[in-house]
Amino acid sequence: MGRSKKSYYFAEVYAIIRELLSQGKGEAEIDNFIVNLKLLNEKHLAEISADSYHRSGGAFALSLENAAFAANFVNAYAEGFRLALRAGMDDKQIERRAMMYPTEGFRLAVLNAQRQALHERGARKWRRMLHPELSEAGPCQQCMADAEVLHDIEDPFVEFHPNGVCSQQFLVYTMEGRDIEIPVPSDEADHTRRRWAV
Ligand SMILES: [Zn+2]
Repeated sequence: MGRSKKSYYFAEVYAIIRELLSQGKGEAEIDNFIVNLKLLNEKHLAEISADSYHRSGGAFALSLENAAFAANFVNAYAEGFRLALRAGMDDKQIERRAMMYPTEGFRLAVLNAQRQALHERGARKWRRMLHPELSEAGPCQQCMADAEVLHDIEDPFVEFHPNGVCSQQFLVYTMEGRDIEIPVPSDEADHTRRRWAV
């Protein structure tokens, strides 16, 4: 079995982290790292979005807006990361924060491309569904408040916090009078993530 697009993405981000750490984290290296991180997000998330759209039954083409949504969302945090790197972070912190980009980006890319495919197939609204019985800590206030909102199908799905703190969420689309529940990919369900460092 070949490696998934997701595992290549994680491996390439991991490689630029190793490069930064081995080069001594100077200003030029930090700037270069941030440029490369943003480029990797753009490249991989556009591909992952297109795949997700077709896998979800999309018969046309993913909109440019939806194709770029996930990369734009995560890359908006990159300037803050650059400043934090310049201020000084230890290697573990850097690795953890950098890997949030592919983790969150993947989730947003998959879900927002699915959303367009389901829109084309007749869905008009989506809602976040929480399963507090499936997690130990339970969902946060923000997710609980958002779960009350019936979103227009054009509203993108966004994450309120990194690393899927409120795991076991589903999106519910109403189509032809019945509800379709789609799981939000979470870290626990994700075996690829444990392999990226190998
Ligand atoms: Zn939450």
